[in-house]
Amino acid sequence: MCRQDPVKMKSKASTPSVDTIRTTPILSKGKLDKEDQWLEKFDINAFATEIRTLGKELEQQQGEADVKHLNKMVLWSNICAALGLLTMGFGTNLIAIVGLSTWTFTRWTMIAHHTCHGGYDKCHPNKDRWSRFKFAIGSLWRRCNDWLDWMLPEAWNVEHNNRHHYNLSELDDPDLVERNLAEIRDANIPLALKYVIVFIAAATWKWYYYSPNTYKELKLALLRKQGKPLPKGIDPEDAVSIKSIVLGINPFYSAWEFLAVVIGPYMVIRFLLLPLFMASIVGFGTTELLGITSLSFEQVFYSSLYNMLWAELLTNLHGFVAIVPNHAGDDMYRFRNSCRPFSGSFYLRQVLASANFDRGTDIIDIMHGYLNYQIEHHLWPNLSMLSYQKAAPLVKEICEKHGVPYVKENVFIRTKKTIDIMTGTSTMRWLPEEYEREFLEQDYIQEKLKKTSN
Ligand SMILES: [Zn+2]
Repeated sequence: MCRQDPVKMKSKASTPSVDTIRTTPILSKGKLDKEDQWLEKFDINAFATEIRTLGKELEQQQGEADVKHLNKMVLWSNICAALGLLTMGFGTNLIAIVGLSTWTFTRWTMIAHHTCHGGYDKCHPNKDRWSRFKFAIGSLWRRCNDWLDWMLPEAWNVEHNNRHHYNLSELDDPDLVERNLAEIRDANIPLALKYVIVFIAAATWKWYYYSPNTYKELKLALLRKQGKPLPKGIDPEDAVSIKSIVLGINPFYSAWEFLAVVIGPYMVIRFLLLPLFMASIVGFGTTELLGITSLSFEQVFYSSLYNMLWAELLTNLHGFVAIVPNHAGDDMYRFRNSCRPFSGSFYLRQVLASANFDRGTDIIDIMHGYLNYQIEHHLWPNLSMLSYQKAAPLVKEICEKHGVPYVKENVFIRTKKTIDIMTGTSTMRWLPEEYEREFLEQDYIQEKLKKTSN
């Protein structure tokens, strides 16, 4: 991540591309769109001070209650796993499909996500597991125990925790929907066909796009760390998908490496070993014990496999609905330049480029994977799930006081807004350039003041 002083900063908007030519024209102050008029009276330093103070208070409050809350969420996730695994051998059924799908979803979005950010580093007594430096990483054993999914946890940590969180809705954000879907947005095809493409992408995105692309980010990070140059003619922003791996045009790693290191363990355990394990109970006479004598080894194996495959489809869709709309919509802002982490611009951007969903009860929060507190999570990525529950009404209050748009809407309305961005039916909003620059200058001044006062 390159953090530059605003005086030295080269505007990325000055490099024309399909994406940046949509930039709204530079607006001089006083000519703001109605939706941007809150900027005229906005005091970024006062806002940042209040957010910073609240973050410190929340961090100090973390302790036993947060660990208890985490344990409760782990229990819910494990109940989903048990429901799915114990019923998947008995014909294709909804309990198994929903159980398995929700297990995969919650293990990722609630447990792994917040632990890998360091949400429990300080408050959890078991530092050997519930730490960002230990959880799911370092060995296949840890991955299987803590979080087994299509994505390699080390790769997800780089792509999500670093690149996405600290470049939110900038051109360097690997999760910027409007840029990533530019090809479909601009395609001269019927809208109905665009919807079909988006639906297929939503049902397959974790293994088709996300897993290969997060692994690419890990490879890029390793090259940068070793000071090695990128392969010739490579644009690091170009996405890697299953298509580019199969076609042999992915310069970062081979198909075999991707299979063996990244997706192989998940594929073998989910779609072979677990169905085999369930089927093996027939051999030990367990089905007779349960009074189900008509089931054969093959029947249990195949019904387990089919339930796993249906659950895979469902968890992709569930993940898509809960994750992709977090930062997309015609009311979400985009930015041209980077900002310093935890500066005034940083805090403001996390609110302007994130959308919360409905919240409240355990079941609502679990079904959203705690991503319904997206604004609070982006303000302080390393807090616990419980902290976000406490923070949400307080952040909303601060935003209202300072006139900052705080977006909270039903997840399905947000999904519709996201699909509109994906298909090119609507366009995201750019923070007026004058203000973006002014805020970055304020950050610079505040940083200087802090250094001189120390
Ligand atoms: Zn995150």
